[in-house]
Amino acid sequence: MPHTRTHSPAVPGFSGRLVTPRDADYDDVRAMWNGAVDRRPRYLARCLSPSDAAAAVRFAGERGLAVTVRGGGHGVAGNALCDDGLVVDLGPMKSVSVDPARRTATAGPGTLWGELDAATQAFGLAVTGGVVSHTGLSGLTLGGGLGWLMRRHGLTVDNLTRAELITADGRLLTADEHEEPELFWGLRGGGSGLGAVTSFTYRLHPVGPEVLAGPVLWPLEDAPAVLRRYRDHVASAPPEVATVVTLRRAPAAPFLPVELHRRPVCMITMLALAEGDAAERLLAPLRSIGRPLLDLVRRRPYAGLQSMTDAVVPAGWHYYWKSTGLRELSDPVIDTMTDHAARARSSRSYAILFHLGGAVAEADPAATAFAHRAVPHHLNVNAVWLPRQQESLGAPERAWARDFVAALAPYGEGVYVNFLDRDDRSRLPEAYGDRTHARLAELRRRLDPDGVFGTG
Ligand SMILES: Cc1cc2nc3c(=O)[nH]c(=O)nc-3n(C[C@H](O)[C@H](O)[C@H](O)COP(=O)(O)OP(=O)(O)OC[C@H]3O[C@@H](n4cnc5c(N)ncnc54)[C@H](O)[C@@H]3O)c2cc1C
Repeated sequence: MPHTRTHSPAVPGFSGRLVTPRDADYDDVRAMWNGAVDRRPRYLARCLSPSDAAAAVRFAGERGLAVTVRGGGHGVAGNALCDDGLVVDLGPMKSVSVDPARRTATAGPGTLWGELDAATQAFGLAVTGGVVSHTGLSGLTLGGGLGWLMRRHGLTVDNLTRAELITADGRLLTADEHEEPELFWGLRGGGSGLGAVTSFTYRLHPVGPEVLAGPVLWPLEDAPAVLRRYRDHVASAPPEVATVVTLRRAPAAPFLPVELHRRPVCMITMLALAEGDAAERLLAPLRSIGRPLLDLVRRRPYAGLQSMTDAVVPAGWHYYWKSTGLRELSDPVIDTMTDHAARARSSRSYAILFHLGGAVAEADPAATAFAHRAVPHHLNVNAVWLPRQQESLGAPERAWARDFVAALAPYGEGVYVNFLDRDDRSRLPEAYGDRTHARLAELRRRLDPDGVFGTG
C-alpha cells in the first residue's frame, strides 16, 4: 500500500514510522482484525526495535498522551487501539529464533502463531498456541493462552520462560523466575497494562509434525445426545486427547463439502498426541458417537490443524463476543447451548467450547496470574456479521450472544480475559478472582504509577 510522508513531530531515538491521520494509509494501519473496532489514534508508532518502543513511550509520556500497545491486532475488544493517543505498534517486530537443542524459541511481539509454528515445526517442536494461525502471539500469551497442546503441556504462559518489556518510564526490563519475579508472575495471564513486551521466550515440546486430528460433524439436532456422550468421555480422557466443540451452521470452508455448507452442525474437532494405533484408540470413542455426517480425522500436519479455520474468521468482519467459564457440562448446560446455538440469525455466528483440565488444572494456581485453573470448559459465543449487514444483523446478533451466555449464568465460573469484549470491562475482577485482581492492580501501580498504559 503506497503511503505519503507528511509532516509529523520527530520522536527522539525513534527509527520506525510514525503514522498520523494525515497519512494516506492511516485507515489501513489502524485497522484491527475486528472490523467493528473504529478508533482514531493521533499516532501509530510502528516500532522496529525495543528502543523504538521506549522512545515512543517516552514521547507519549512527555505529552500526556494515552498509550496502548498493539501486538497482532486480534483483540476482539480493540484495546490495543486508543482514540486520540499513541499506539506503540509492535506489529512490525516479527522474528523467531529456535534453539532446537535447548528446545526454546524466542519471538518478537509482532509474530503471529502461524509464523511461530512454522519455525518451531521445522524441528518437530511446538508450544501451546491459539487455534487460529493469524492470531498474534503477544496478547494471547499475556492473557494465558488456550490451545491444542494445553492439556498435555500447559497453557502458553506455563511455557513462557522469559520476557523483556519496556516500562512506562521507558526502561527495558527482563522478567523471568529470578529477575523481577512478581512482574513475571503478572505477565503470565495478567493481560495488558504492565508495559510493552518486546520479546517472549518459550519452552518447546516435541509435536508431530504430523498428528492424528480433525473435525467430526453431527447434525445440530443430535447435539444433546452427542454432547452427553462427549462430556462423559472427556471427563476421564488422558491429557493426550484435546477437543474443541463448535456449534454453528457449517461454514463454507474449503475442508467441508459444499452440500454441508450452512447446515446447522455440532462439530467436535479432536487431536490425539500419540503415535499410530495408540492415537487411533484414543479418538475412537469420540468418533463412534451416534451417526456423524462427516469424519475428517486423519493424520495431518500439526501446522495444518492450527490453520484449518483461518478462513472462517477473516480480518474485517464484525465480531462481538460473550464468554463464560463452565463448572460442568450438565444436561441443562448442553440443552441450553444447543437451543441458543440454533437461534443465531447470522450464518457466520458460532459458539466454541474449549476443554481444559489436564496440565492446565495441575499447575500451581499461585505460580501465574491465570486464574480459574480448575474450570474445565470455556465457552466463547461469537456473533459475526459482514460490515454491510451491520444495520440488519448487528443488534440482533449482539443480543443473541448476550442472551446465550446469560442463560448459562447459573453454571458459569470465571471468564477468560482474552475473550472479554469492549463492553465487558466490569468483568475484569471476574476474570481474575479478587485476590489475583488486587495483586495485579498493585503490580500495575508500582510499575506504572501514572497509569500511562491504562489497564488494556
Ligand atoms: C480468530 C481468533 C482466534 C483466537 N483463538 C484463541 C485461542 O485459540 N486461544 C486463546 O487463548 N485465545 C484465542 N484468541 C484470543 C486472543 O488470545 C486475543 O485476541 C489476543 O488478545 C490476541 O493477541 P494480539 O496480540 O493479536 O492482540 P492485540 O489486539 O494486538 O492485543 C490484545 C491486548 O494485548 C495487549 N498487547 C498486545 N501486545 C502486547 C505487548 N507486546 N505488550 C503488552 N501488551 C500487549 C494490547 O494492548 C491489548 O490489550 C483468538 C482470537 C481471535 C481473533
